[in-house]
Amino acid sequence: MRCGAKFVVVTGGVLSGLGKGLFISSLGRLLKSRGYKIIPIKIDPYVNVDAGTMNPIEHGEVFVLDDGSEVDMDLGNYERFLDLNLTTESNITTGKIYRKVIEKERKGDYLGKTVQLIPHVTGELKEWYRKLAEKTGADIVLIEIGGTVGDIENQIFLESVRELSMEEDVFFIHCTLVPVLKVVGEQKTKPTQQSVRMLREMGIFPNMIYCRSEKPLLERTKEKISRFCGVPQEYVISGYDVKHIYEIPLVLEEQNVAKNVLKELGLKERSKDMEDWKKFVENLKNPKKKVKIAITGKYTYLHDSYVSILEALEHAGGNLSCNVELKWIETTDIENGKLSVEDALKDVDGILVPGGFGSRGAEGKIECIRYARENNIPFLGLCYGLQLAVVEYARNVCGLKDADSTEINPDTPHPVIDILPEQKKINEKGATMRLGAQPAILKDRTLVRKLYGKEKIVERHRHRYEVNPKYIEILERNGLVFSGVSPNRKLMEFLEIPKHRFFVATQAHPEFTSRPLRPNPMFLGFVKACMS
Ligand code: GLN
Repeated sequence: MRCGAKFVVVTGGVLSGLGKGLFISSLGRLLKSRGYKIIPIKIDPYVNVDAGTMNPIEHGEVFVLDDGSEVDMDLGNYERFLDLNLTTESNITTGKIYRKVIEKERKGDYLGKTVQLIPHVTGELKEWYRKLAEKTGADIVLIEIGGTVGDIENQIFLESVRELSMEEDVFFIHCTLVPVLKVVGEQKTKPTQQSVRMLREMGIFPNMIYCRSEKPLLERTKEKISRFCGVPQEYVISGYDVKHIYEIPLVLEEQNVAKNVLKELGLKERSKDMEDWKKFVENLKNPKKKVKIAITGKYTYLHDSYVSILEALEHAGGNLSCNVELKWIETTDIENGKLSVEDALKDVDGILVPGGFGSRGAEGKIECIRYARENNIPFLGLCYGLQLAVVEYARNVCGLKDADSTEINPDTPHPVIDILPEQKKINEKGATMRLGAQPAILKDRTLVRKLYGKEKIVERHRHRYEVNPKYIEILERNGLVFSGVSPNRKLMEFLEIPKHRFFVATQAHPEFTSRPLRPNPMFLGFVKACMS
């Protein structure tokens, strides 16, 4: 029995990191703009149950959803492009699906059977895809299979979608790379041909091929790929390099990708609304103003670990017609004297201190916060950024010598930031932080209240530590304002310094909820302040 939804499956070949996720997000945007209900699923073939325990240096940012699940950063792109709030069911990992099958086996759900990859794991996967379609009422399910065809790791997932295609309407898109060898100067199609051959060996015949390349594909390249890979020439799509990722839907629209996908799935082409998106992209490409913002951190050499922050700044910039130039400050360099804080920050219009963990680089961040506060430079602190702003204020304004977070110095005489009481008993590391959407009440006549324009807001969280209630009184007496608190008033969620141009921090991660056409108010306010 068909489930009622249609499926688009995107696989990858040749190389990892080609931007399958951006392709599928962009296609999703185009389908959504035609009034179709879309739900994406990202499949990550790693054995971790979720991305929460992975180092951002290895795997990029850990993205957090409303429901508190810690997921692959591609889900961030899905949410941004599709303007949807997803749930944990949109991210499948090997760990998650095996855990599910093993739990069922232990319960006796397969009693008497030999539990096997095929049909039990593939069956469980197909049920997952269909259930999510049903639960969300989606017209089209977009499935992205992580990794590259030929990997051992993702074979079972490829098999599940092959089986699915026997039972449902499935459209397969394969994403490859078309390189140009400098000396030859020709777009080479062999890697695409070979990776399509490998996919065919798995029983999957792609219906469309999305070719990443530096320059647009030449007609003769398209023709060659079409002939060797068995897809119509207009279904060989040119995914050439663009400056801003938000241009990708427009590149696909030029080539009728969404229109053809709908046609092949037997769905009607409908009128679309991409005008606001186009305007946003236009602003990004031709900004009228420019600001330079410092990002202080310790993963600055892997920008993927801060991707949502970069996107949120881009959303604010796009809506304010302002180019946001970034200056990466490695705070360990400040700590060990390689770089002075003045040299690092003297030419910037604003300073952003993002989230982080552990003591390395923390003193450098505290120095940057002090510089922002003393020199009246706009400052935005996110999560660890709020915690370190409290440490800085306690030390340098309240005179609490050696005040610290117990994450950095467990023996500090003034633990102004301390572990959440309910966290003290927890030993397991996976999915045990304070996670996901949490409400906050914003105080009247504060800057954050003005930014959000309402009293009750919700932002996503991911942390173990908090402002220690014992120190709230002394911090406030010395001029720090906790402008947003949890509904029970116990947790300090936002802070600001009233006389400063813009000194705002939050225990939350507002970057996770920023969308191109609906930039998060914290980022919008911050970039505006940097422009003034
Ligand atoms: N390390 C801090 C905590 O666990 C901050 C976490 C973060 O910035 N996401 O509370």
